[in-house]
Amino acid sequence: MKFTRLASVATAMTLAVSMAACGSSEKTVDQGSGSGADNKGALIGVTMPTRSSERWISDGDNVKKQLEALGYKVDLQYAEDKIPTQTQQLDNQITKGAKLLIIASIDGTAITTQLENAKAANIPVIAYDRLIRNSPNVDYYATFDNNKVGVQQATSLLTGLKVLNADGSEGSAKGPFNIELFAGSPDDNNATFFFNGAMSVLQPYIDKKVLTVKSGQTKFEQAATLRWQPKVAQDRMENLLTSTYRDGAKVDGVLSPYDGLSIGILSALKSNGYGTAAQPYPTVTGQDAEAASVKSIIRGEQYSTIYKDTRALAKTTVEMADAVLKGQTPKTNNTTDYNNGVKVVPSMLLDSVVVDKGNYKKELVDSGYYTEADLK
Ligand code: BGC
Repeated sequence: MKFTRLASVATAMTLAVSMAACGSSEKTVDQGSGSGADNKGALIGVTMPTRSSERWISDGDNVKKQLEALGYKVDLQYAEDKIPTQTQQLDNQITKGAKLLIIASIDGTAITTQLENAKAANIPVIAYDRLIRNSPNVDYYATFDNNKVGVQQATSLLTGLKVLNADGSEGSAKGPFNIELFAGSPDDNNATFFFNGAMSVLQPYIDKKVLTVKSGQTKFEQAATLRWQPKVAQDRMENLLTSTYRDGAKVDGVLSPYDGLSIGILSALKSNGYGTAAQPYPTVTGQDAEAASVKSIIRGEQYSTIYKDTRALAKTTVEMADAVLKGQTPKTNNTTDYNNGVKVVPSMLLDSVVVDKGNYKKELVDSGYYTEADLK
């Protein structure tokens, strides 16, 4: 196995060297697996972070199904949030002769070697949902407008507190409200985009003392949740309740960037007496419109989530991949915001929608994302 891998990397490197000698090393995407080669029915490697969250299962299924509909062969892998597993999966896909890689990374900085090997083998790379950082060997990026997701989460927190009305105008409530902040995994580039987007909305209200982060933990590093683990968020919420709210003060709102964390946060609140008529849950946000959280929203527990249609992200990515493999330039709509530390990666950003009890039917059921039965 090891020998095959080395052999294939060596072959790839010879190829890259000889291409460089012809003066054609610059635009791998256009000249490599693209226009020159017949990529009909080619193998495409797809790597997803984990099956522990529903959204990635839908992402993987949708990408696979749509690529297969175009005649491609697909190797779809999940790494259960283990970096060595993901790097090994990428090594295998390169060895197996994948002609393009679609990668939703666990740690956006941990696959540099694999990307070097991909580059040497002339395999284009599309970063899926999460930006791959610190490598020049990323050709395109398909994602949602991550800054906007953070803005939407914070805006909906304010709507839940009635500081804002649904139409965005100033609401009747003036606070001060106690809130706590949670952020995603520090190794996921998206996490800072969500947090910074959210803080751009919340900070002015913190400055005006409409909102108080009672724990004082307002920095990303303090709020971050390694690998987006629900249990880590649950434990942190428990600790905050013990350290900061023993004086009888109540938590009014929680900025949560992902439904899995929201569930952990709500459990911690429940075991501390929240979720009753006398002491209702605070306004808790989320992301991904995962079925368990949509059900929680319907029950009046979680306040909102951000719906990101994984079918649309898959479609965009598959269109990108198909264009690249045909030697065409894929459509992008952002060539400024996603600097990965080495280069700005041309990106296609999709739109997201705030979903709460009032619009979940229209957004999630009428659009066919879920059936009514899925949400029972
Ligand atoms: C995704 C979010 C998701 C989170 C945890 C982020 O990279 O953009 O949609 O909630 O990972 O899986």
